[in-house]
Amino acid sequence: MVAGLRRLGFDAVFDTTFGADLTIIEEGTEIIGRVTKNENLPILTSCCPGWINFIRYYYPSLEYMPSTTKSPQQMTGAIIKSYYAEKMGWDPKDIVVVSIMPCIAKKYEASLPNQESYGIRDVDYSLTTRELAKILKEGSVDLRYIEEEDFDSPLGVSTGAGVIFGSTGGVLEAALRSVYELVTKETLENVDFVALRGLDGAHEAVVDLGVRKIRVAAVSGLGNARKILDKVVSGEEVFDVIEIMACPPGGCINGGGQPYAKDRDAVLQNAWNHSINSTAKINCANHTRTLKSSRSIKTSLANLVVTKHMISCTWKTLKQVL
Ligand code: SF4
Repeated sequence: MVAGLRRLGFDAVFDTTFGADLTIIEEGTEIIGRVTKNENLPILTSCCPGWINFIRYYYPSLEYMPSTTKSPQQMTGAIIKSYYAEKMGWDPKDIVVVSIMPCIAKKYEASLPNQESYGIRDVDYSLTTRELAKILKEGSVDLRYIEEEDFDSPLGVSTGAGVIFGSTGGVLEAALRSVYELVTKETLENVDFVALRGLDGAHEAVVDLGVRKIRVAAVSGLGNARKILDKVVSGEEVFDVIEIMACPPGGCINGGGQPYAKDRDAVLQNAWNHSINSTAKINCANHTRTLKSSRSIKTSLANLVVTKHMISCTWKTLKQVL
């Protein structure tokens, strides 16, 4: 894939999973902050624009609940146009970031007014994987016959936590791995939160953080989102963190922009297995040297006076603009 994109003419190719790791660290920090203060709970994940659009229209009174952390797509674009641009001596205005996503709604997310930093869009174009397949075909680039190449560095290094991000329950599981370690100061022996896994639409679990137990849930599909939000609003159920993905079953691995397949169930199961059985050596986003260096990325961004804008956004702004 990386080699194929270079053949199409891209100057640098990065792994969005790196952006997912940054999202995990930022969102994990937000979870710890809100749970510790016991305010604005439950915190709802916000990396799925299909779901964010849904809450904006149908539950506007809950606009304070979604995390303000930017999604991996936006995080990656923002870091490319700041940290990487500075490192390469490039003017961010000369960079065009094209994301490849399993999702049609990511086009909408990339175009939102709050997804930019000081007038520079985080992501200029968002293509679906289905569109990429067509472009590769038109460019006579056949991935079966070219040797794979590595992502560009340093934004191509990622963890197993970032890899599970695309599966339902994966965003929550990835965040909980880091939240657990950061709160308890203990190393997580078993990184798998199996209670949150599965292709069916809803899962929940209680996670013991030592100082406090938190109740979490992961749902896919907007019907399931509606059910759980109605219970939260009525007070029938109390949660601390809820992950919601619009595409059922499975989340982004089953996104609306993915290539059509004759045996969709088998393809989905294969994507699921690949996602949860990551062979990454590092499985917690807070463990990586790259992410430690992401703190220096933040420091570097601070010099550019854009740090907070690069990694988070306010939904209030979104409401005002739209
Ligand atoms: S769950 Fe579906 S709509 Fe949401 S980000 Fe993933 S592919 Fe897009």
